[in-house]
Amino acid sequence: MTKYKIAVVPGDGIGKEIVPAAMEVLLAAGEKFGFSFDMENFDYGAGYYLEHGKFMPEDALEKLKAFDAVYFGAVGLPGVDDTLPAKDYTFKVRTQFQQYVNYRPVRVYPGVTRPLRSEKPFDFVVVRENTEGEFVQVGNQYLPDEENGMGVDTSIFTRKGIERVAHYAFQLARTRRNKVTHVTKSNTLINSLSYWDRVIKEVATQYPDVTHDQMYIDNASASFVLKPEVFDVVLTTNLFGDILSDLGGAIMGSLGLGGAGNINPEKDFPSMFEPIHGSAPDIAGKNIANPIGQIWSGVMMLEHLGENEAANAILAAVDKTTESGVLPVDLGGSSSTQEISKAVISNL
Ligand code: NAD
Ligand code: MN
Repeated sequence: MTKYKIAVVPGDGIGKEIVPAAMEVLLAAGEKFGFSFDMENFDYGAGYYLEHGKFMPEDALEKLKAFDAVYFGAVGLPGVDDTLPAKDYTFKVRTQFQQYVNYRPVRVYPGVTRPLRSEKPFDFVVVRENTEGEFVQVGNQYLPDEENGMGVDTSIFTRKGIERVAHYAFQLARTRRNKVTHVTKSNTLINSLSYWDRVIKEVATQYPDVTHDQMYIDNASASFVLKPEVFDVVLTTNLFGDILSDLGGAIMGSLGLGGAGNINPEKDFPSMFEPIHGSAPDIAGKNIANPIGQIWSGVMMLEHLGENEAANAILAAVDKTTESGVLPVDLGGSSSTQEISKAVISNL
């Protein structure tokens, strides 16, 4: 029987509730489809920081490297400097492990009310560049002088960084509906994002069978709400992808529905699977967090490991659950975190 080595990093806040609940679903799928997990828990995050002064120990990445995948919740706690979760954990893992694709699907769940005027179904993927762009913390300056203060953040886009995520997006489109929409704001960020446009257009010529169009981020945001059915693969930068995927969560019905994979396509380092949202301190500890985004991230992890049959079965079981009206509080229901995962397991 195949046994996968999974590093489990629940993190903070609702991460500690939804990760164990979603893990139960993955374990049940393993039993049904003939594979198992060798799991190790790591307590990294803002809670760890409060005790040790850092989000994870020095040898953490070396340790995580030995796993087939990392299953992650979210990090961040009120009272802890909120520039640290990304700098000291998420962006660090994503860059060190060359997880340059952030794969964030957006689709309709049966039985879930969407806050949109149109009932038309949609099903697309946001491919967010995950290792450079607006998130590099290089060359930044901050002069907090009261009279002549100034803040500068630098964005870096490299040919290598753009090309590799673009190839991923075009190849992904070939397995779907053959369309890539790339989203920038090159009319105002005229150096960095014009370069992005130019490199994407070069890559696009290698995929003449894939329809390619371009949208500015402001128009793309409006289109997510007004006509989400036009999208298939949305290729965008780190910051814009971060924002657009929360909007993607919102048009599905809740942030709690969105799953994601931080993917290293070459598989030379482990990939990391986590929901699109954060640690939601406002609802933590109440057992009401929606575990579906975390479960969906687990589905992506199983796909990455090659367990497609189990992955599809879990998705079908989630659909059956929402369709039958078993819904968490954020979707207007009253089921707890565990009640949702138990319902998914019984529908499996
Ligand atoms: P958030 O995503 O944690 O929460 C935004 C809103 O969505 C809140 O009202 C929350 O209750 C709700 N929500 C989120 N997930 C939900 C779920 N599963 N079920 C039901 N409701 C859910 O974003 P925020 O409030 O901006 O950030 C909170 C903390 O999380 C901050 O410390 C932030 O830095 C951190 N954060 C971490 C990550 C990460 O670890 N990848 C990502 C984003 C934010
Ligand atoms: Mn985000």
